[in-house]
Amino acid sequence: VSNRLNSFTESVIRRMTRIANTYGAINLSQGFPDFDPPAELIEALKRAADKGPHQYEITWGSQKFREALAKKQSKFMGISIDPDKEIVVTCGSTEAMMVAMMSACNPGDKVIVFSPFYENYVADTILCGAEPIYVPLHPPTFEFDREELIKAFEKRPKALILCNPSNPTGKVFTMEELQFIANLAQEYDTFVITDEVYEHIVMHPYKHIYFASLPGMFERTISCSSLSKTYSITGWRLGYVIAPSYIIENARKVHDFLTVGAAAPLQEAALAGLNMPDRYYEDLKTLYTEKRDIFLKGLDEAGLKYTTPQGAYYVMVDISEFTNGSDVEFCEWMAREVGVAAVPGSSFFRENINHLIRFHFAKKEETLIEALNRLKYLR
Ligand code: GLN
Repeated sequence: VSNRLNSFTESVIRRMTRIANTYGAINLSQGFPDFDPPAELIEALKRAADKGPHQYEITWGSQKFREALAKKQSKFMGISIDPDKEIVVTCGSTEAMMVAMMSACNPGDKVIVFSPFYENYVADTILCGAEPIYVPLHPPTFEFDREELIKAFEKRPKALILCNPSNPTGKVFTMEELQFIANLAQEYDTFVITDEVYEHIVMHPYKHIYFASLPGMFERTISCSSLSKTYSITGWRLGYVIAPSYIIENARKVHDFLTVGAAAPLQEAALAGLNMPDRYYEDLKTLYTEKRDIFLKGLDEAGLKYTTPQGAYYVMVDISEFTNGSDVEFCEWMAREVGVAAVPGSSFFRENINHLIRFHFAKKEETLIEALNRLKYLR
């Protein structure tokens, strides 16, 4: 088999879901909601089942979907996006990231990845034949050291991957941090590939700043995101790449040969999401701010230490009071004996860090309360 595959393992996140299922544990590992999408989307899905489309759409996304997406993203990103030239609709942001990487990188190129990272980035880099350069986000605040970032740029990377709001840390990058990255990207002529799937899951009072909206950055930014988290439809697999037309021309080719296109009836039904009023996005922030607060209060009561998330729906919890050993074994034990599944932090870090585990809180209040009750038995 291909040697490429030796340098990474299967997804630890999805492995934890299988372990959670085996033991019937509450699954706070792989991040997805246990509540339904908005009723508008379910109704639209029924209509799409009835009326179609049921055959292939245009490979880079249906005209209606791209127009609705361009309208919504132009408003939130504060830049005018051309639906005909600057968008490719993909099967989730998972495909979007792979398409972005394959459009930007040649074999042998270097790619900056902040560590901890969402596990796909390293796999994507290696599948492209490129090489990751890691820059630590130092716990517990998950800030980067400016000198360390400069040193990484001095290795002349082709691209930097930026997950903001950040999985697994819950960090929302500040304008100052983003501008620092932007200046280096300009100086070293580097692409910035973003993963912004949590763009609308930002806790009050934090604000998400789109990297592409920084002065001069649209031309070198490949923005990847999806509808999964925003509309609670992770199983619909609808994502997209937004970038200048010279990149999108290449991205379309990669996408065409990888998957041909995202599911046509789901693109149709998802219009109901893209056309939601602004109020929807405000309510979503409030909803997740409440979930975070419920979860953190329970962690406090259970005596667990954590870094307060500002965005996304994850929290990194310190387990050093409970074990000096492997976080992987701790998570397996916890799923089996405590009945709550989390992701071992070591799967996100390049460095040898194994005192952190990741919980997600995109769950109904009753699910969170039950999980927190169980976590009290850790003491
Ligand atoms: N983003 C989710 C997580 O980190 C999982 C996504 C996936 O499994 N495709 O848990």
